[in-house]
Amino acid sequence: MAAASWDPTSAEAAYAAEHGIHCFSIPTPFAVGRVNLYLIDDEPLTLLDTGPNSGRALDELEQALARLGRRIEDLELLLVSHQHMDHLGLVDILARRSGAQVAALAALAPWMARWSEQMEADDVFAEELMRMHGIPPETRLALRAVSHAYRGWGAAARVTRPLTDGEALELKGRTLHVHHRPGHSPSDTVFHDRERRLLLGGDHLIAHISSNPLVTRPLDAPLDESHVPRPRSLMIYLESLRATRAMDDVDIVLPGHGEAFGGHAALIDERFRMHERRARKICGMLAERPMTVFEVAQAMWGTVAVTQAYLTISEVLGHIDLLLEDGRVREEIDGEGVARYGAVAP
Ligand SMILES: [Zn+2]
Repeated sequence: MAAASWDPTSAEAAYAAEHGIHCFSIPTPFAVGRVNLYLIDDEPLTLLDTGPNSGRALDELEQALARLGRRIEDLELLLVSHQHMDHLGLVDILARRSGAQVAALAALAPWMARWSEQMEADDVFAEELMRMHGIPPETRLALRAVSHAYRGWGAAARVTRPLTDGEALELKGRTLHVHHRPGHSPSDTVFHDRERRLLLGGDHLIAHISSNPLVTRPLDAPLDESHVPRPRSLMIYLESLRATRAMDDVDIVLPGHGEAFGGHAALIDERFRMHERRARKICGMLAERPMTVFEVAQAMWGTVAVTQAYLTISEVLGHIDLLLEDGRVREEIDGEGVARYGAVAP
């Protein structure tokens, strides 16, 4: 089992450093703990992810750069692994100070440019989803307040170098192949150095925790549209995992959180088994009586902490999607618009 934090003494970390990739583990205010940023010592001098928008994260980043004889002003290219605040909060500040180009998935560029409005629309989307799936009003209200309070850790930023799925990003000393691997978020992007058999994986695949397939408003959903169909995030995520599993030219994954690791195919197989196990467990519960997603979450994890409410319904909805797809459960929506799921008798 890999450790929950980056271990600079591991063989994997040493291999990355030998090839000019240095990890900075930067604090975040979120339950996930520290986030891994990667300095790629190449031309242009590249930083993958930036940490959240906080003075503390910025200080630690500056100190980490200084240990390598570098300054923020030296950065020439900022890469963004995905849309979450712990990864992109400082993009704008770093880009302004350094003049670095900002490279992110093209579909994420307009989203990043209108970050505050997107956050607001995400909250409306989340609110409707939680209502439909049985989360009580007081929990929804509390979660909205939490979401508001967290917003300061993100910020809008301008993407100057839009990336497309499958393109090759050329640095002087290496080529990074760009792959879109949505599921944890709609914008998850991984960067593959085939020659060195390294994958900069962001939050797509993490060793010590299973990445949450967060149900998220699609990147291209119009801002003024209040009823946006929810994506089937776990199914999208499993599809992305299958694509990553098929990569036979990866020895080491450098993730967005926790330790560097090898054996990605075995880890992905473990994830597939875990999700199927959970789906079966939920199916068994729904055979007793039809339940809302929130009732399933409570039955599985007891009282759900407010801050975890959205994560847990995302998780349960993901498994219900698998069961719906296989015809193992069916959905019923009551007069209030609340969805209940019941097992289909075999
Ligand atoms: Zn994330």
